[in-house]
Amino acid sequence: MTPLTEAEIRTSFVNCSQGEAKRLRVPLGLADTAWDTLDFLGWRDPGAPAAAYIVSEWRGKVTGPVMRLSTDRRSTGRQNMCALCSTVHSTTDVALMVAPRPGASGRNGNTVGTYLCTDLACSLYARSLKQPDRVQPVETLSTEARIERVQANLDTFVRRVVDVA
Ligand SMILES: [Zn+2]
Repeated sequence: MTPLTEAEIRTSFVNCSQGEAKRLRVPLGLADTAWDTLDFLGWRDPGAPAAAYIVSEWRGKVTGPVMRLSTDRRSTGRQNMCALCSTVHSTTDVALMVAPRPGASGRNGNTVGTYLCTDLACSLYARSLKQPDRVQPVETLSTEARIERVQANLDTFVRRVVDVA
């Protein structure tokens, strides 16, 4: 992906207040990030463990859903496969992440949820630059196809969050 600046990241959030976007913790070391190995910039905030962010260029615009890890016990531990990269983990390394819909809809409690790698390293798993703890099911997909799958799934997820229809 194209390198992003902190200012671009802060203006990318589609589903939080401007105050939150200004305050939230952007990852350190953006200048040292290996952007060419990423389909999106994903990070967690060590000071707010329930918060998670994925920022990417979506349909020509830098777009970042703010998410939180679901604490609903009925929905945690059900899934162990990431919806973006299809990596299979132990259930503690996959979490239901919930993104409020933008605007009034989100303030009224409408959210879009998906199961994701808790480390948000999907781009690296797809490129075999990071190995999951568990042995993976046999797949015949090429690295390129796995990367395309991450990008297609990300496109779908962002569209589900931002679509007003
Ligand atoms: Zn993943």
